[in-house]
Amino acid sequence: MNAPLVILVEDEEHLAQGLLFNLEAEGYRTRHFADGSEALTYLLETKEDLRAILLDVMLPGKDGFEIVRALREQELYFPVLMLTARSHPEDVLEGLNAGADDYLAKPFDLEILLVRLKSMLRRAAWTQADRLHPLAAVPPPPKLSADLYLFSGRTIQFDTLQLVAPNRTTQLTLMEADLLRYFVDHQGEIVPRKDILEQVWRLHEDTDTRAIDNFIVRLRRYIEDDPSAPRHLLTVRGVGYRFLAQPAP
Ligand code: CA
Repeated sequence: MNAPLVILVEDEEHLAQGLLFNLEAEGYRTRHFADGSEALTYLLETKEDLRAILLDVMLPGKDGFEIVRALREQELYFPVLMLTARSHPEDVLEGLNAGADDYLAKPFDLEILLVRLKSMLRRAAWTQADRLHPLAAVPPPPKLSADLYLFSGRTIQFDTLQLVAPNRTTQLTLMEADLLRYFVDHQGEIVPRKDILEQVWRLHEDTDTRAIDNFIVRLRRYIEDDPSAPRHLLTVRGVGYRFLAQPAP
């Protein structure tokens, strides 16, 4: 089996060279782009079995947000770890909204980057076929495990990040799956918005919270029969949200 391929999109030459050296020392294959447009062209066309993208925000050509948005629009669910500036917390939210799976604030510790990358690869260990053609892929038969959750005719497969509903299969991003898992783990309880920021996304409580609303809209689209009249993912006004696996009739 080939070493996992990791794509680095970073225009700071010094940082990029250091990262590439360390990634290769850890046993990854790498490919590096310093220009956002060139990176996006490659990512939209590549047939390579790439496993993760380390994506800077400020880039010549196209910025990191444009890149991740364009990939998600094409239903390309490569795991994306965004490298954001610590001085711009709003970058984190914009990155998550655009569909990034995780983020790391610059300057970061190399060891932390490697741990995050490893855990992202572990969570995203689905096949290339599923990743490239999520809706065409036939979901594997459900198996009973901690990675499987059944409710109301729907199945969440946390290991492959698939949500199988009667009419369609949705490929979740890692961030969507993490949020959904948090709701599942706290089924029936009120989940305050602050817990979503701090426990799920590791953000400070006073961060702008519109990102949560966007994620809730997306999850409702996936799990509700009528997203405008939710029965599973309820708003608790002024506090947060509550997930009910079996809503009262
Ligand atoms: Ca940059």
